[in-house]
Amino acid sequence: MRCPFCAALDDKVIDTRVSKDGREIRRRRECDACNRRYTTYERIEESMPMVVKVDGRREPFDRNKVERGLHFAFAKRPVAQAEIKSLAEEIEREVSEMGVPEIASRDIGARVLPKLRALDQVAYVRFASIYRDFRDLDGFAKELDALKGAEGEGAAEGDRAAGEQPPSKA
Ligand SMILES: [Zn+2]
Repeated sequence: MRCPFCAALDDKVIDTRVSKDGREIRRRRECDACNRRYTTYERIEESMPMVVKVDGRREPFDRNKVERGLHFAFAKRPVAQAEIKSLAEEIEREVSEMGVPEIASRDIGARVLPKLRALDQVAYVRFASIYRDFRDLDGFAKELDALKGAEGEGAAEGDRAAGEQPPSKA
């Protein structure tokens, strides 16, 4: 650390304290050159990016919003609430770990889709219909075709993580 009084770079830590909630460390330091004391704080960076929506507006990432989207997709499907919640948490963790300042809402949707596909194909199609916009329609159509193909072959592709799934009569 650069001493705020004399700008020397060498110091020693004379006291370290962790805050009550464990989220912050406070260090009391003493400058080796002028012997004056100052304090530094260390805390975990809140690294959730801003979400850029299709219309270009930005809003803070909101896990509850992801969870609401998932609830819609899983409506009346045989998937536990806890599973939906943990899926939303998984997405939040992934987005956080990217460490980017912003992310397109479509990219979040793109992260959700393969997870849904492995879990429940009906939920997958519903969610895709929320998140894909017209620019992605070709891709969406291809996905639907791939799904139909997979169903025709007894849906052999991927893990059937959700266990028994009645074939959709869509
Ligand atoms: Zn100093």
